[in-house]
Amino acid sequence: MKESSLSKKIQAIRGMNDLLPAQAPLWQYFEQQVRTLMGRYGYDEIRTPILEQTALFKRSIGEVTDIVEKEMYTFEDRNGDSLTLRPEGTASCVRAAMENGLLHNQTQRLWYQGPMFRHERPQKGRYRQFHQVGVETFGLEGPDIDAEVILLSARLWKQLGLFEHVTLELNSLGSPEARAAYRDKLVSYFEAHLDVLDEDSRRRLSTNPLRILDSKNPAMADMLADAPRLMDHLDAESREHFERLTAILDAAGIEYVINPRLVRGLDYYSRTVFEWTTEALGSQGTVCAGGRYDGLVEQLGGKPVPAVGFAMGIERLILLLETLELVPDAVHDTLDVYLLPMGEAAEAAALELAERLRDDLPALRLQLHCGGGGFKSRIRKADKSGARLALLLGEEELAENAVTLKFLREEREQRRLSRSELAPALADLLSEA
Ligand code: ATP
Ligand code: MG
Repeated sequence: MKESSLSKKIQAIRGMNDLLPAQAPLWQYFEQQVRTLMGRYGYDEIRTPILEQTALFKRSIGEVTDIVEKEMYTFEDRNGDSLTLRPEGTASCVRAAMENGLLHNQTQRLWYQGPMFRHERPQKGRYRQFHQVGVETFGLEGPDIDAEVILLSARLWKQLGLFEHVTLELNSLGSPEARAAYRDKLVSYFEAHLDVLDEDSRRRLSTNPLRILDSKNPAMADMLADAPRLMDHLDAESREHFERLTAILDAAGIEYVINPRLVRGLDYYSRTVFEWTTEALGSQGTVCAGGRYDGLVEQLGGKPVPAVGFAMGIERLILLLETLELVPDAVHDTLDVYLLPMGEAAEAAALELAERLRDDLPALRLQLHCGGGGFKSRIRKADKSGARLALLLGEEELAENAVTLKFLREEREQRRLSRSELAPALADLLSEA
C-alpha cells in the first residue's frame, strides 16, 4: 500500500540537530564561559548574516578546497543571485569589517559564534549544521598576537577542565613566496613517487599539492614522512616570527608539538597555523583550528591587513566535556519553587503572588502551576518539576493571607508563612542551597 505523502511525518534535515531542553544547559554553560573570557581579553562580538554571496567564499577559502569543491550549500535565490550558507566565519567577518570601515587605521579583536553549514557525511562530531566560536584579530602582525589567541584558547580549556586532554600542534606556512618555492620542491618529490599517490592526491598535485601532506591514507604515510618539510624552507622573517612565537609559548608554559604536515584546509593561511587536538573523540579530534591570514583582506579587495584567528567546533567540545565527564553539576539549574494554587479563587491570587516574588527575589526560579487538575496530579507535577520547594495556596491560606511551604526533597516540616514572612524566608532558604 502506498503511504500517503500527507500523513508522512516531516523530519529534520540529515546532519542538522535540534538542541533539546535537556542539552541546552550545557551549551549555555559553554557559551557563558566563552562570553566572559572574550570580555576578559578585550575582544568584541560581531554578528554577521548566515547567508553571503557565493563569490565571497570561493574567493577567500579557495576554489580547490574541500569546502568550496564539495561542501557548500549553494543555491540561487529568487533574483537569480548565487548565495551560500556560510561554511565558516572568517570570510564573513572580513567582509563585514571591510564593508563597515573597521580595518581603516585601527586594530580589531573580534569574536563570533553561530551555526555553520557544510554538506559532509554526518557522523559523530561531524554535522551539516554545526556551531563554531571564532576569534579574528586585524592590524597586528607580530607573534605576540598569535600567542595571545593561543593563550586565550588555552585559558578556555583550563576553565573547562580540558587542558590536560588537548594537544597544541603548531606549524608555519611561511610567506607566499617561500611557500611557492617549497611547493615546486614538493611537487617534484611527489612526481618521483607517483605510484604511491592515491587518486585524490594525484588530482591535488596540480591544484593544491600542500593538501596532500594532510592525507590520512596509511598507504601514503611512509612517503609523506620523508617529504620535504616546509619548516626547512621558511623565509628568514617567517622563521623569526615562528621562533618568537614559540619563545612566548615556552615562557607561558604552553606545550606544543611542531607538526610539519599541518597545512589546514583553507587557502588563506600564511605563517602561523595551529590546531588543538584530542585523542578522546576518534577521528574527529580537532576541536580548534586557526592561524595567520595576512593576505586575505587584500585578496578580498582591501588594503593589506595582517590578521590571525581561530575557530572551535562547539559540538566537539560539548562531546568532549560529556565523554570526559567534565560537566559540572551546577550546569543543570533546577527550579527553586513550584507554586500551586488550589482551586479557582486561588489561581488569580497565585499569579499575582508569583509576580510579586519575582519582583522581590530576582534570583528566584519559580514556576507557577497552570492547567488545573486534581490534588494528586498537582502534587505529582510539583514533584516532577524538580523544584526544591512547593508553595501551596488554597482557600485556607487565602483567607489567612498566607501560604504553605513544603519541602519536596528534604525531610523537613512544612510551614505556614504569612505573605510578609514569605520573601525573607525564601531568601534564607535560597542562600542555604
Ligand atoms: P576537519 O578536518 O575535522 O574536517 P576542518 O579543517 O574542516 O576540520 P575548520 O574549517 O578548521 O575544520 O573548522 C574549525 C573547527 O570547526 C574544526 O576544528 C572542528 O572542531 C569544527 N568543525 C569543522 N567542520 C565540522 C563539522 N562538519 N561538524 C562539526 N564540527 C566541525
Ligand atoms: Mg573539514
